[in-house]
Amino acid sequence: MTSSTPSIGATVPGYPRIGPGRELKRALESYWSGASGRDELDAAARAERQRTWRRLTELGLDSVPSNTFSLYDQVLDAVVAAGAVPPRFSALGLDGLGTYFAMARGTSGAAPLEMTKWFDTNYHYLVPEIGPATRFHLDPTKPVSEYREALALGIETRPVLLGPASLLLLSKPADGAPHGFAPIERLDDLVAVYALLLTTLAAEGVAWVQLDEPAYVADRTPAELEALGRVYARLGALPERPSILVTSYFGPLGDALPVLASSPVEAIGLDLVAGSLPPGGVPGLDTKTVVAGVVDGRNVWRTDLDAALATLRALEPRAGAVAVGTSCSLLHVPYDLDAETSLDPRLRSWLAFADQKVAEVVALAAALRGGEPTPSFAEARTALTGRASAPDVIDDGVRSRLAGLTAADARRTPFAERAEAQRVRLGLPPLPTTTIGSFPQTGDIRRARAAVRTGRLDRAEYTARMRSEIERVIRLQEKLGLDVLVHGEPERNDMVQYFAEHLNGFVTTEHGWVQSYGSRCVRPPILYGDVSRPAPITVEWATYAQSLTERPVKGMLTGPVTILAWSFVRDDQPLGDTARQVALAIRDETVDLEAAGIAIVQVDEPALRELLPLRSVDRPAYLDWSVGAFRLATAGVADTTQVHTHLCYSEFGDVVAAIDGLDADVTSIEAARSRMEIVPDVAASGFARGIGPGVYDIHSPRVPSADEVEALLRRALAVIPGERLWVNPDCGLKTRTYEQVEPALAALVEAAWRVRRP
Ligand code: GLN
Ligand code: ZN
Repeated sequence: MTSSTPSIGATVPGYPRIGPGRELKRALESYWSGASGRDELDAAARAERQRTWRRLTELGLDSVPSNTFSLYDQVLDAVVAAGAVPPRFSALGLDGLGTYFAMARGTSGAAPLEMTKWFDTNYHYLVPEIGPATRFHLDPTKPVSEYREALALGIETRPVLLGPASLLLLSKPADGAPHGFAPIERLDDLVAVYALLLTTLAAEGVAWVQLDEPAYVADRTPAELEALGRVYARLGALPERPSILVTSYFGPLGDALPVLASSPVEAIGLDLVAGSLPPGGVPGLDTKTVVAGVVDGRNVWRTDLDAALATLRALEPRAGAVAVGTSCSLLHVPYDLDAETSLDPRLRSWLAFADQKVAEVVALAAALRGGEPTPSFAEARTALTGRASAPDVIDDGVRSRLAGLTAADARRTPFAERAEAQRVRLGLPPLPTTTIGSFPQTGDIRRARAAVRTGRLDRAEYTARMRSEIERVIRLQEKLGLDVLVHGEPERNDMVQYFAEHLNGFVTTEHGWVQSYGSRCVRPPILYGDVSRPAPITVEWATYAQSLTERPVKGMLTGPVTILAWSFVRDDQPLGDTARQVALAIRDETVDLEAAGIAIVQVDEPALRELLPLRSVDRPAYLDWSVGAFRLATAGVADTTQVHTHLCYSEFGDVVAAIDGLDADVTSIEAARSRMEIVPDVAASGFARGIGPGVYDIHSPRVPSADEVEALLRRALAVIPGERLWVNPDCGLKTRTYEQVEPALAALVEAAWRVRRP
């Protein structure tokens, strides 16, 4: 870094990109459907980039990031920049954009890259496929053109890219890679490409580049730590290069911090919300600029500016220089609180979305430089005190109920006893057939929900329409011959938002969209206060469904951990306490369902795995409170009531003990895609409860045949006895059509019959 290199001052590692009005989503979907062309897509993308750079400049950042925009995913962008396009896509002979979207979404000839959760967030990235034969080569088009594009507006930016070590650590071995191959083995080859990129950017006049290495906030082996040191020693030694900022987020760097501090990089970005600097000395840190992420980049609360400033000041003697940032990219929060015009103003004063967070970063940087603390400091103080004492944040009823709980409240009688009681009550055949809950959501259903929301449809008419949908779904399931029925969830927009709308302690936003993957966005509710259930939520729908049939109808609820994982949660008490409050509300619902005659209740926890802490030291405590919350939610019912849970994902391995600890009577998991791969592991773990490994991959429009399903069931039966094996799809059916679902479920029922026959 030369003396002319600008200092970072105030910055953010990234910013949302879907557009404040989801403009990019619309442009993408219109392009994909063929309704618009390349020019329209390019124009929408350019508009969003330019709006972002101008906005961040206007808000006062000293260093504005570029290349944080993406048409789909930043990991996919890094794959393209590194030339690591798997051959099945390059072989399609498409142009750059065609190849890009083929990797993201697949084509008839090539299955897309796998998608998985980005660390412990609800964002999904595309998993790079790296093998011994992957031929890396630099494609600097995107970072260079975005840099130039911003420069043309008079804005000097800092190109951002996923760092080479994290890119490989987030990759999976390409098809055909020899057994035992790990993508990180290709690090030196990949770093050569990054070296070329840095040289190219230097030639463009780029002063700073940001390389993200979030993979190092998880546990890493000594070899992986050594690899990190090697990467930055090599990039740091380049004769012509921009100054390098290596950014981490979602947790503390741990042993990776001294590695980076002793490398030649100029700056290190730290998440000081999810972690703090270790107390001892870190050799070399006093020569670095520390970009201190003191403003929470993934939650929506207004920052305690006094506390954040104190953190920054405490850092000053330990770092070469201190710059201010958010803890991670603002990708994970909505754009602008000002768009939420109908939120209660008092609640609004407690919140900060992306633009407000940028303003907080700027205010903190100014205060750190010794400027007058701006009025925002006083405003933050007032808001925080208001929040701490607000009557709807603290609910004494909820608190005393929680305080009165004992261990017995989270405990049911032993599984074997319950299983017998349930067998007698339910009288189900071996290999009972069921579904995960939702049925296809037709346009009519969506329109009815939207209309009742805006008041265009009255309550009575809405109820009538939902009831007729429920009746249709029940009749269909009877016709198909399923054993345990569901009502189909037509009344639910989303499995978390629906419950949030019916519980005290939550608010929902109008425009608070956050990208989940590609063009998909979610609008997480905000959990701001003590949670309770003012009235039964699902009981009427479930009992109506049950009134239509002799077969058992399964009540359908979302579990406490998933409700937390897919909401913005309060940061003023431990997550475990919040989970217990939500658990009590769900418990009330299970008890009411039971009292209304529902014999089976399913409590979905697809996010249990996703919140698993990135570092193993933190896992026992997490599993303790999360499993405890599930048990609290489900242990209020009698032995004769069967509790199901659904976990979605197939990576059962590292949480299998926890899943046993949930003490559910039946657990359904995703298994069709992996052709039951996980079932032997589950059996080997000693898991001895009911289990429904999915036999129908609902993520694909493909309809499986009865033969296929039968083969999967026979595989499962090799290790799991028939009386514990359930037959169900991988997940809910809401994203499928009836044309797909009917024959698929018919195949599923037919296969179960064939397997049951002696
Ligand atoms: N019961 C929910 C459904 O069927 C479960 C969804 C999920 O696991 N994500 O839609
Ligand atoms: Zn699922």
